[in-house]
Amino acid sequence: MNITDTPNTETGYIRDVLAKSLDLQTLTVSEVSSLLWVEDDELWSEIFQAASDVKERVYGKRIVLFAPLYLSNECMNDCLYCGFRRGNKDAKRKTLSMDEAVEEAALLARRGYRRLLLVAGEHPKRAGIDYFEKVIDAVYKGSDIRILHLNAAPMSVDDFRRLKASGVGVYQCFQETYHLPSYRRLHRAGAKADYAWRLGVMDRAIEAGFEDVGMGVLLGLYDWRWDVAALIAHCRSLMNKYGFGPHTLSVPRLQPAQGSMADHSRYRVSDDDLKKIVAVYRLALPYVGVVVSTREPADLRDELFTLGASQVSAGSKTSPWGYVKDGDTEQFEIGDSRSLEEVIGKIAGLGLMPSLCTACYREGRSGERFKHLAEEEAIKNFCHENAVLSLKEYVEDSASGEVKEQLTELLDEEIAKSRNGVAQKCKLIEQGKRDLHI
Ligand code: SF4
Repeated sequence: MNITDTPNTETGYIRDVLAKSLDLQTLTVSEVSSLLWVEDDELWSEIFQAASDVKERVYGKRIVLFAPLYLSNECMNDCLYCGFRRGNKDAKRKTLSMDEAVEEAALLARRGYRRLLLVAGEHPKRAGIDYFEKVIDAVYKGSDIRILHLNAAPMSVDDFRRLKASGVGVYQCFQETYHLPSYRRLHRAGAKADYAWRLGVMDRAIEAGFEDVGMGVLLGLYDWRWDVAALIAHCRSLMNKYGFGPHTLSVPRLQPAQGSMADHSRYRVSDDDLKKIVAVYRLALPYVGVVVSTREPADLRDELFTLGASQVSAGSKTSPWGYVKDGDTEQFEIGDSRSLEEVIGKIAGLGLMPSLCTACYREGRSGERFKHLAEEEAIKNFCHENAVLSLKEYVEDSASGEVKEQLTELLDEEIAKSRNGVAQKCKLIEQGKRDLHI
């Protein structure tokens, strides 16, 4: 089926599609299109419930937390929706020095983060592969951060090899929109104007050895149903070629930004639309992590936690030097300004399991191996116990006040029913041991 054909949204067919996903099979583009075009609210209730069930079967109750660390807001491109674009003459530009990056990372580590997503605009001279290698090495050596992911501009295979060797876990890059006329209208200058170079980025990253790649579209640039279906088509083409697809799918929604010239009304994605998108990503590729950022308001994020999201940022700043100082120009406005501690408390209060674990990347559970483990429902066994261990560390080192009491109670319950030596490992954490995982 072509993604412009009329999809089948009959109830019986949709239920068959949901049953396929509940069996942890990936969905075809045609099946995804059918889900996207459902209009019946009652049927959407069934879709949301199925997404929640699939998430629990693959990942259990865990929600992984991280923060972005913006390294540079200097950029040669001119994406009309972005505060970092070169045409934004009011922007205050900054690229972090090694010492500044380490200071930011160390502060975040003291708050309890163990995984960070490094982010930079596209500026090969100031923030190219030489810079990334140095800054990644400095942060690993100078802080307690255990895994760094990177969201940065597309690179050559050779540069991706260097990036992989530097210890980056996930390489993340969004196509923004797959709709070529819209892409050309929004990306008029710089290397990013080359649609095909960006479209081939994941092939080059995978060829260079990245098994974990993060993909997405910027929702609101074009018709969201079309772009979601096109993204799934891209994911499936990678799966057919390499045996595995993306490690994560993100759901960034267009937000106001200083100097933005994007039209926010034409392809607006409502809160209800965003819930549908999270559910459809979860059902389309059951093993994939679905990432929700602090672009979204707190109440909506809390709902998305139970609809299929498995990774969320918290306590984020979107400008370089934003944590230690107030930072300069932001990439976009934040919708949820709660601290990491507040979000962890909320997740636990919803009956879910907050996790700061980084074990899979460091134990080689990535790419095709991760996909198979997830499809066999084995990931949740590792993850739940590792989440408990990571939360125990968090309680010992960073939590405070009521959230500390809430988490201590939760940990007591979890330890009482745990296996695999989790209780003994928690004792060791109390005695000062760190980074214990399965
Ligand atoms: S979206 Fe990325 S590439 Fe485009 S202007 Fe912003 S930082 Fe630069």
